[in-house]
Amino acid sequence: MTAILNRTLIALALVALASPLAANESEDEDGRHTAPASADQAAPRPEDPDGPPVAADGPEDDADQAPTAAEDTGDTATEVPATPDPVAPLELLGKTVPVGAFDTLYWTPDQSFRSIATPVPVLVAHGTRPGPHLCLTAAVHGDELNGIEMVRRLMYELEPDELAGTVVGVPIVNLDGFRNGSRYLSDRRDLNRYFPGRKNGSAASRVAYSLFENIVRHCDYLVDLHTGSQKRVNQPQLRADLENPQVVAFAKHFGGMTVLHSPSSSGMLRAAAVDEGIVAVTMEAGGPNRLEDDAVDYGVQALETLLENLDMRKASRFWGAPQPVFYESEWIRAAQGGILLSEVELNEQVKKGQILGTVTDPISNTGSAIIAPYDGRVLGMAVNQVVHAGFAAYRIGEEKSAEEVEAKAEQAQEQSASDHGEGDNGGEAASADQADRPDGDTE
Ligand SMILES: [Zn+2]
Repeated sequence: MTAILNRTLIALALVALASPLAANESEDEDGRHTAPASADQAAPRPEDPDGPPVAADGPEDDADQAPTAAEDTGDTATEVPATPDPVAPLELLGKTVPVGAFDTLYWTPDQSFRSIATPVPVLVAHGTRPGPHLCLTAAVHGDELNGIEMVRRLMYELEPDELAGTVVGVPIVNLDGFRNGSRYLSDRRDLNRYFPGRKNGSAASRVAYSLFENIVRHCDYLVDLHTGSQKRVNQPQLRADLENPQVVAFAKHFGGMTVLHSPSSSGMLRAAAVDEGIVAVTMEAGGPNRLEDDAVDYGVQALETLLENLDMRKASRFWGAPQPVFYESEWIRAAQGGILLSEVELNEQVKKGQILGTVTDPISNTGSAIIAPYDGRVLGMAVNQVVHAGFAAYRIGEEKSAEEVEAKAEQAQEQSASDHGEGDNGGEAASADQADRPDGDTE
């Protein structure tokens, strides 16, 4: 009996949180922060064995709860015609996915680059119990393969009849790029600079718009899967805007995964999602053009932990104890062009003054060392290659405590609330950082 009651309470809490957009329209008069009330509420961390608090603090939530409770009694449904099932079939991409079913849908970007519409497969597991909609997107850059494999492994181990909520996985967003082994769309544009896109914009902008409107808008949470780019590899890590408290709370659900503060950059999928109240992070693991089993396995484990912590299912394995480690980071660049040879490895702890690698001009035999400017950890690095002066070679992370990160996020939130009536997160500092992104950052 207690178990049933607990389940009902959890279900109620999840129903209440299943429509964060609607629930928040009235809560946030300035329309800025339309994210779910709190990712922590939606998903208890492992140290909360009693399950989520019964969230429900708005009148909309009460309205959602009543019919659910009635439904549980089993015999009042006919008296209240408007009573919805606790979980309704999923309407997505013009198709109806029954409750407790797994299905493959197809998304056709409105804009076709070769006058040939290529439907993009979308995997959906629609659970039998109420819960959030979690979306996974991979290969927004067509040459980033690890995320494709992560989506496959995770989606095909889901059992919809045991699932609370819905998982939507788009294994290969940029199908054209994937077929060409290219990061870019067919028109050489980087799709991840065009979100949320415009209906009548450029070709890339239309593809972005179509993905955003047809799929992303249906998500409560989004994890966009990437790898390093341009011959760089990344230690598996989350990129998250740690100035947003909802994003910070969400990032903590991936178990022991490294979390890197990365201010949202205009045009990126996760930034556009967060702007629309969809709590989003990017997961980076490994490098492009190859499949790295360790990186894939690590990413899948983090996603399994996420599902567990969002109360969507009981995972067979998840990181109960480890907490994420937060980092601030910057790219350390080559001072001259030449052949880059590294002296450190990915994930290595480095000391201020330590030689990270050397760059040598192969003709004049003159070289210089790239030095660690502070103590930290190698979170991303270039593979050995020929580089130009200014090439971003090592991403060195400086550890921050969770408390420090959370306090900063709250502060940033308050600051931006008082500074700009309808301001965006970021500001000048973020813009300066972004100026260095195109070659240094890889999302
Ligand atoms: Zn990418």
